[in-house]
Amino acid sequence: MDDLRRELALLRDLGFTHLDIVERRAPSRGETTAEAAVATQDDLELDALGVEASTCEKCRLSRTRTQVVWGTGNPNADLMFIGEAPGRDEDLQGKPFVGRAGQLLTDIIKAMKLTRDDVYIANVIKCRPPENRNPEPDELDACRPYLRRQVELIKPKVIVTLGKFALQSLTGKAHAVSSARGQWTAYEGIKVMPTYHPAYLLRTPSAKKDVWNDMKKVMTELGIAA
Ligand code: URA
Repeated sequence: MDDLRRELALLRDLGFTHLDIVERRAPSRGETTAEAAVATQDDLELDALGVEASTCEKCRLSRTRTQVVWGTGNPNADLMFIGEAPGRDEDLQGKPFVGRAGQLLTDIIKAMKLTRDDVYIANVIKCRPPENRNPEPDELDACRPYLRRQVELIKPKVIVTLGKFALQSLTGKAHAVSSARGQWTAYEGIKVMPTYHPAYLLRTPSAKKDVWNDMKKVMTELGIAA
């Protein structure tokens, strides 16, 4: 907000008497339209990195993907969800979590009194592995710098890792999700809540209550009343 005030004061000093506000993205929780319309340097760098990644050939997945699935949502989000890798729907649409698992993630976000525009959603792997196989270690290594920079630019207060690969690739922790979930851990000073992947919840609906308990901890941390 202070940055926005400074920027507006500067524009006024430069002689601007009005601004044409173009909506860059929908305003999210607690944000005005003007705030959502202003792209910060970090937002621009995030966009530029996404453009750079769109032609990435650092691993073999570039040969079989339809397109790179970069990330979606509020580039200034307090909450970031990190999944594994795009599936068929994501590969075709170019957006993360738009298939069945994505619908469940959207429901989880709604239950947290948020929308997909309030949060940022990305994957550890930006290209679909053929037949949705697990990512290989060298593919995770090749893609990790993109994820790290995304996190640095978004600066979320809380990261939720969805499933084993997100937890392991981001934090280097090789624990099973069943033992790590629900317990705060950290990445570069950012609080990380590991939980189950929505695709696992589709196969194991009885685990939904565990995820909801984990998300309640996230809501408390972010000051969202349950
Ligand atoms: N599963 C993921 O981990 N990410 C997606 O984007 C879709 C399904």
